[in-house]
Amino acid sequence: MKRDLIKQYNLPREVKFCTKCTISNQRPRIKFDIYGVCSACLYAEYKRTKVDWKLREAELVDLCNKHRKSNGEYDVIVPCSGGKDGSFVAHQLKYKYGMNPLTVTWAPLKHTNIGRKNLDSFIASGFNHILGTPNPQVTRRLTNLSFIHLGDPFQPFIYGQTNFPLHMAVMNNVQLIMYGENGEVEYGGDMKNAFSPTRDIQDHDKHYFSGLPPDFWTEHGILAKDLYPFMAPKFESIRSNKTEIHFLGYYKFWDPQENYYYCQEHTDFSANTERSEGTYSKYASLDDAIDGFHYYLSYIKFGIGRATSDAAHEIRDGKITRDEGVALVKRYDHEQPKKYFNEFLDFCSISAEKYDEIIDSWRSDHIWNKVNGEWLLRNQIAENMH
Ligand SMILES: [Zn+2]
Repeated sequence: MKRDLIKQYNLPREVKFCTKCTISNQRPRIKFDIYGVCSACLYAEYKRTKVDWKLREAELVDLCNKHRKSNGEYDVIVPCSGGKDGSFVAHQLKYKYGMNPLTVTWAPLKHTNIGRKNLDSFIASGFNHILGTPNPQVTRRLTNLSFIHLGDPFQPFIYGQTNFPLHMAVMNNVQLIMYGENGEVEYGGDMKNAFSPTRDIQDHDKHYFSGLPPDFWTEHGILAKDLYPFMAPKFESIRSNKTEIHFLGYYKFWDPQENYYYCQEHTDFSANTERSEGTYSKYASLDDAIDGFHYYLSYIKFGIGRATSDAAHEIRDGKITRDEGVALVKRYDHEQPKKYFNEFLDFCSISAEKYDEIIDSWRSDHIWNKVNGEWLLRNQIAENMH
C-alpha cells in the first residue's frame, strides 16, 4: 500500500534539523524560525529567561483556592500512571498545596512489571486511585487496527488516557483536571496555548484523535458499546460540569529529570535496570510493553525516534550538549524493539511478515531510500559546524 504522509501530516518536503536540539521539522505541527530554531527550543528559552515563576506559583495557589473543597469531596483529578511526571503532580498538589486529588490511571495496553511496581508504590505513598481497564479483547482489536491504519499501535491507549480523566471528572463532580506538561508546547507543536494555563476541550479532540471519527472504528467492526470507554463524555456534560484542564508545567518550571529525583524520594519511584529500547534513558515511559513500537513507528514515519525526542528534551533542559545528543541519536534511534516483539505480534494477532509489510507501508520516500535492499534515512542529523 502507498500512503502520502506529506499530505496526511502536512509535513515539509525538505527535512531540516533544529540548530539547537535534535528534532527535525518532520514532527507534526512543529514550527522553525528563520534561524532554524524549533518552537520547543524557543519556548524553553522563554521559560528560562522571561517567565516570573514566583508569579506563576501565586497563580497556582489562586487556582487551588478557587477549586479547593472543604466538604471532603475530591477537588482535582490527576491523571497518573505511576510514572515520574504524574506522580510529581499528584504529590505536589496533595502535600504542598493541600488539595484532595483523585488520581486516575488508564490501564496500559500491556503493563510491564516495573510499571506496575511503580504504580503500586505511588498509590502506597498515600493516594486515592482509580484504575480504568477496558475490555482487553476490544483493546487488542483496536491496537491491530491502529497499527495498520494509523501507523501507531498506541492510539487506543491514547484515546483512553485522554478521555478517562474527563469521565472521572464528570462522574465525581470535580471541575479541575491537572496534567503535567503540555506536550504540544514543551516538545513542539501547536503553540496556541503556550501562554495560557489551560487547554480548550475542543483542542483535546483535535490533537489526540488523529482526525478519525468514531465511525471509522465502527466501520471496521468495533461496536459502539465497545468503543464507549475510549470516547470522551458528551461535550454537554463536560461543559455543564465546568471542567477545566490545566498543566502544572505552566505554573511551575517543568524539569523531567528533577521530577524523577523528586519521585525517587517521595513516591518510591524506581528507574529501570536497563535502558529503554531505541534510546538511552531509564526512567521515562516504563509502564507499557507496547510503547516501544509507538516510538519506533514515529522513527519510521517521521525519522524521529525515541532517542531523538529524549535528547531534544535534555538539550533544552541544559542536561546535555547538542553534539552529545547527536551521538546518542546515531547510536540508538534506529534500534528496533525486540524485547516484547513476540508479545506484540501475539497481542496484535499479526505475523512477523505482516509486521514488516505494515512498517514498510509507513515509510515515506522523502524520509527513506532503499539501497541494496537496505532502508537508509535520506537525511541523517549531523553536528553543527564549529
Ligand atoms: Zn530545537
